[in-house]
Amino acid sequence: MDQKLKKIKDSKKNFFIKTFGCQMNEYDSKRIVDILKKFGFQEKKDLESLDCFILNTCHIREKATEKVYHEIGRLKKKYKHQKKPIVLVTGCVAQAENDEMLKRENYIDAVIGPQSYQNIPKVLDQINKNKKSLNFTEFDVIDKFDKLNKLVNLNSKISSFITIQEGCDKFCSFCVVPYTRGSEYSRSIDEIIYEASSLIKNGSREITLLGQNVNAYKYISNNRKFKLSDLIKELDKLKDLKRIRYTTSHPNDMTEDLIECYKYSKKLMPFIHLPVQSGSNKILKKMNRKYTVEKYLSIVKELRNILPKMEFSSDFIVGFPGETDKDFNDTLNLIKDVKFINSYSFVYNKRPGTPAARLASIDPKLQKTRLSILQNLIEKIQIEKNHKSIGTSKEVLVENRMKDQSKYFGRTCELTPVIFDANDHDIGQIINVEIKDFNRNSLFGKKISIKKEDAA
Ligand code: SF4
Repeated sequence: MDQKLKKIKDSKKNFFIKTFGCQMNEYDSKRIVDILKKFGFQEKKDLESLDCFILNTCHIREKATEKVYHEIGRLKKKYKHQKKPIVLVTGCVAQAENDEMLKRENYIDAVIGPQSYQNIPKVLDQINKNKKSLNFTEFDVIDKFDKLNKLVNLNSKISSFITIQEGCDKFCSFCVVPYTRGSEYSRSIDEIIYEASSLIKNGSREITLLGQNVNAYKYISNNRKFKLSDLIKELDKLKDLKRIRYTTSHPNDMTEDLIECYKYSKKLMPFIHLPVQSGSNKILKKMNRKYTVEKYLSIVKELRNILPKMEFSSDFIVGFPGETDKDFNDTLNLIKDVKFINSYSFVYNKRPGTPAARLASIDPKLQKTRLSILQNLIEKIQIEKNHKSIGTSKEVLVENRMKDQSKYFGRTCELTPVIFDANDHDIGQIINVEIKDFNRNSLFGKKISIKKEDAA
């Protein structure tokens, strides 16, 4: 270890990290924790007497930048009469705003893009020495994963994430990801299997593969091209791994080989988050999604032909520029047709610098009305489905005992949360739970038995 970094390690500093956004950001935050722990930092869960404060930000949702300034404002107030911690803003907002952010808020010591967080110890050292603000927003994804691969993923949760792919080349007209995360990059299949194996050794039983465009995964080694389907085949062989998931997928990358995986893999779950965004071909074209509703429906059909119990969730952007009542009704019809069991739905909001930001917006009131109609419809489908579960038995992977009660928490194959009576030795096992009650989001029940293959 470099002498300067060794000095940091010996200084016994602490840090606090707050994460906004998606699972990829959560994964990144965990890796930042791993990096800092390696350098002797202790993670704190409160804001008292901090040496370093990190905000890992997301640019997808509305007012992302303002949220950052709001958080910094609160921290400033708290540390008004004390020595301030080093403040780092990481993630997509840091990438998108970079120098602007340092100019506007001098309380921030450094902005670090999502492809540069492996440099955090170096950044801290430089700040300690020079006391000046720094911008680390290079798209050096190769250097990032090179460094991260040398660091064991310390996560020991039953259900864990692994980022396998970053960036996006699709350029949907509303999205900032191609600008904030850069072009598509896939990690080596060996590195991923190695990380999965260490997670399993630590106790993980379910792995969710992450990527902005996870099903575009493509890694070339010795003239052989590995795709997501090849990776799933390899993960399938790992003893003690019980469940495999991947997210987020693009419909155009649902290739035959990937669909075929559902025929042979017992570990691949019969649930997929496959964002459609809109049920209108006119709007899909304006969004530059490059597929049609018919193509989307054919993927759903093909998957359900293989696995009739296959379930889907989706993202929806409501009130995109030019969306008429007819376009919106087409989206509602698609929802009824597919019967999505979950969704992330939002009203359209301009993202500066994207092509759609130049289009005329529609009435915000109308956007909100449509959003609530859409969300009510999905809620109705969820409730009907959960209601039908009463009296049935569900396979549940037991994740943990709940903090405030004697119940346990786990998820069905379709990712529905279940709360039930069980025992500590069920954690990490797949058990059969008889469903007795439900609400919109969760099922409630009691353990009947351990799944046959899981029984000792
Ligand atoms: S595919 Fe997803 S990440 Fe890529 S540009 Fe479109 S919405 Fe953004």
